[in-house]
Amino acid sequence: MTQPTNIPLAINAQDVERVYNLGSGQQVHALRGINLAVENGRFVALKGRSGSGKTTLLNCLGGLDQPSSGTIELFGLRLDEMNDRDLTQWRRKEVGFIFQSFGLLPTLSAYENVELMLRIARAPNRQRRERAMACLELVGIGKWADHRPYEMSGGQQQRVAIARALANRPKLILADEATGELDSETAREVLGLFQRIVREEQLTFLLASHDSLVDEYVDEVLLLKDGQIVGREVSGA
Ligand code: ADP
Ligand code: MG
Repeated sequence: MTQPTNIPLAINAQDVERVYNLGSGQQVHALRGINLAVENGRFVALKGRSGSGKTTLLNCLGGLDQPSSGTIELFGLRLDEMNDRDLTQWRRKEVGFIFQSFGLLPTLSAYENVELMLRIARAPNRQRRERAMACLELVGIGKWADHRPYEMSGGQQQRVAIARALANRPKLILADEATGELDSETAREVLGLFQRIVREEQLTFLLASHDSLVDEYVDEVLLLKDGQIVGREVSGA
C-alpha cells in the first residue's frame, strides 16, 4: 500500500534520541536515533525486551515526554512546534492511551471512567452520554456500565480502558504492554478487539509489547533493541 503524497503519515519520527540524565554525570541513552514512518490506518507492534526503549518511545510519540533531539510529526504536525497548552489539547482530542495496569479511576463506574474523558475534552452533555455508552458497547461491555473496576475481571477492565481511549475519536492509539497483565486467552480477545477497532474506526494503532502473541494480529512488527529499530516485518495478511 503506497500513501498518496498529499496525505501525511500518521507518525513520522526522525533521528529521535532520548537521554535520561541521572545526575552526577550519569546518563541513560534510551533512544538512539529512531526513524519511524507509520501510515494512517496501520496496526503496528513495537517489540523488544524490557529496557529496549518501548515506553520511552511511546511517551515521546504521544507528547508525554520530549526527545533530547530529533523531530516527531503526527499527521503532519510537529510536536516540538506546539506550545504546552496546544499540545495538551491536541493530545486529549487526537491520541488515546492504553496502559498495562488499565489506569481506571477506582471510585468511578465503567461508564463514568469513559465519560470523564469526554468531560475533560468539553464535549456537550448529551453527546457525552451517547458516546460513552457507544464506546462501552463497541468493546462488548455495555452491560457493565454501572460497575466499578474492582467488580470486573482484568479483561473487562482493559475493555473499559479501551473504551476510554476511544471516547474522543482519536486518530492514534498508543498502547503500552496493554495485554501484559492478561492470561493468553484474554490477551487474544483483546488483540482481536484492537484489530477490529483499527479497521472499523479507521485509526492508527501502535502497540508496545514483548509478547510474541501480538505478531498474528498486527500489520507490521518493529523490533526495538537498545534504543534502535533493528528490524521490521510486514505481515502478508
Ligand atoms: P521498555 O519499555 O522497552 O522496557 P524503557 O523505555 O522503559 O524500555 O527504558 C529504556 C531505558 O531507559 C532503560 O535502560 C531504562 O532503565 C531507562 N529509563 C526509562 N525511564 C527512565 C527514567 N525515567 N529515568 C532514567 N532512566 C530511565
Ligand atoms: Mg515499558
